[in-house]
Amino acid sequence: MSDEDVGPGCFINGRLTPGNGAVLDVRSPWNGELVDRISTASATDVARAVSAAEEAFLDWREAPTPRRVAVLTALAALLDDHAQELAVLQVRENGKALNVRNAQRYGDHLRYSAHLLQMPSGYVVEPPAGSMRVHTERVPIGVVACLTPWNSPINLLLWKLGPAIAMANTVVVKPSEVTPLSTLRLAELATKAGLPPGVLNVVSGDAAVGRALVEHPSVARIAFTGSSATGEQVAVAAARGLRPVSLELGGKSANVVFGDADLEQAVRGAANGAFGAAGQACMAGSRILVERSVYDEVLHGLVAAADAIRIGNPLDPSVDMGPIASAAQLQKIETMVDEAVAGGACVAAGGRREYVAELPEGFFYRPTVLTDVTPDSRIFHEEVFGPVVCVIPFESEDEAVRLANSTRYGLAAGVWTTDRRRSDRVASRLIAGTVWVNTYRKLAHNVPFGGMGMSGLGRENGPGCLDEFSEQKAVWVDLGSDVRDVSGLRRTGRAIHHE
Ligand code: NAD
Repeated sequence: MSDEDVGPGCFINGRLTPGNGAVLDVRSPWNGELVDRISTASATDVARAVSAAEEAFLDWREAPTPRRVAVLTALAALLDDHAQELAVLQVRENGKALNVRNAQRYGDHLRYSAHLLQMPSGYVVEPPAGSMRVHTERVPIGVVACLTPWNSPINLLLWKLGPAIAMANTVVVKPSEVTPLSTLRLAELATKAGLPPGVLNVVSGDAAVGRALVEHPSVARIAFTGSSATGEQVAVAAARGLRPVSLELGGKSANVVFGDADLEQAVRGAANGAFGAAGQACMAGSRILVERSVYDEVLHGLVAAADAIRIGNPLDPSVDMGPIASAAQLQKIETMVDEAVAGGACVAAGGRREYVAELPEGFFYRPTVLTDVTPDSRIFHEEVFGPVVCVIPFESEDEAVRLANSTRYGLAAGVWTTDRRRSDRVASRLIAGTVWVNTYRKLAHNVPFGGMGMSGLGRENGPGCLDEFSEQKAVWVDLGSDVRDVSGLRRTGRAIHHE
C-alpha cells in the first residue's frame, strides 16, 4: 500500500466508514511492515455508532429466534471459510505465532450460542396465589459495548458477540489499537452473513475512544477484556447509570508441581503454559511452584525447554514464538525483568531481547526463567504479559496453596500430581476461576471462563453465557377476574375478604 492511503477505521450501520479521529498505522511487530493505515474514530463517530446500534435494536430485538439462529450459523460458516485469512491477518497485527487450527474453531462460539438459544429457558413458578401463573423469560439488554485487547482479538470478541447478538442485543466494538483490522474484517463478514446493519458496529482507536464508548449513556451493558488497571476504570464508568459489566482481566497464575507428578509432562505443560503466545496470554502460568524434592530437576527441564524455543517470523510454521506485540510492551517486559534482577532474582534462561538477523526491526524477547524470586517482590505479584516465568520452591502442600493464593489475581492455576485425592483437595483450595489438573491452557466454548479477585467479574463461554447478556423478567398473570383495591382487600363480587 502507498503511505498516502488511509483506509476506513470504523464500521457503522453495515458499512466500512472513515473515522474523524487520528490516523493509525498498524505495523507488524516482527518486521515493521505497514499492514494498513486507518482513520480512527472521534467522539462523534462513537456517538454515531452507538445511535446506529440503538436504532438497529428496535428491530433486532423483535427478530424471531430462528432468524437469529440462522444469522449466527451463517456467520460461523463464513468464519470457517475465512479461517486462514483471519488467522494470517491477526498474526500480521499482533505477531502471535500462526495457529490456523485455533482460527478454525472461531465458528464454534457462534454455533454454541445458536444452540443454547434453542434450548428451553426460563421457568414456570408454582402459583403463589390461587389464580396466578408466573413465568420467567430472558430479555435483551440493549446496546452492548465490547472492548477487546490485542492478544486474541477475534476469539475474545466472539466470546462476547455470540451470546450478545443471540440474545438480540446490538453491539459496538472497540478493538485494541494494535489489532483493529481483524475486527473490521469480522464485521464485514457478519454483514455478508445477513446480520442487519447496525447490529454490529466497530470504532477503532486508542483508550480515549474506549472511554468515550463506555461513558456513552446509551450503552446498556459493557463487556471488557484487558488489564486489571483498565478494568477498574471501566467498572467506575459502568457504575454511572448502574450498567451491568463483565471484566475479563489479567492474572499471575500459579502452576503447582508436586514431587509425585509425571515430571516430563509437568515440565512440558508448564513451559507451554508460561511461554505459549510469547507469554502474552491472560492465563499464562507465570509462577511455577515446585516441591523442593524435585526443584532442581524441574528447573533444569524448564531452562532446557526455554532455550530450545525457536524465535522468528510468526508466519513460519517452524517457528515456536513470534515477537512481543508492541515496542511499549517489549519495554515493559525488559523493565520488569531488570528490576527483578536488581532486587536479587537470578536469570536461569533468557533475560534479554533476541536479535533475529533477518528481522532486525522485530520486538523479540527470549523466553526467560527467573529463580530466587521472593514472594514480596513485584515480579511475583504483577503480571508481566511476556515470556517470563518465576520458579519458586515449596516444602508442603499448605505452603504451595498459600503461595499460589498470595496474589490479588485469581484467573487460573495448574496442579501436577499423580495423587488423585491431592489434586481434588488442592484444586478446591486454589483461588482461581479455572484450575487445570495435569494439563494447562485448555479452553472451550462450552466451559465457563473468568476470574476471581483482580482477574475480573463474570464468566464468558459455558452454558450460562446467554444469561450474561440478558435480563431476567418475571411475568405475573392473574387468571381470575378480581383485583385488589387500594386497601389491600380483594373484591370477589359477592363479598370482600382479606387474604
Ligand atoms: P488494556 O487494558 O490496555 O486495553 C484493553 C482495551 O481497552 C483496549 O481496546 C484499549 O484501547 C481499551 N482501553 C484502554 N484504556 C481504556 C479506558 N480507560 N476506558 C475504556 N477502554 C480503554 O489491555 P491490553 O494491553 O490491550 O491487553 C492485555 C491485558 O488483557 C492483559 O492484562 C491480559 O491479561 C488481559 N487479558 C485478559 C483476558 C481474560 O480473558 N481474562 C484475555 C486476554 C487478555
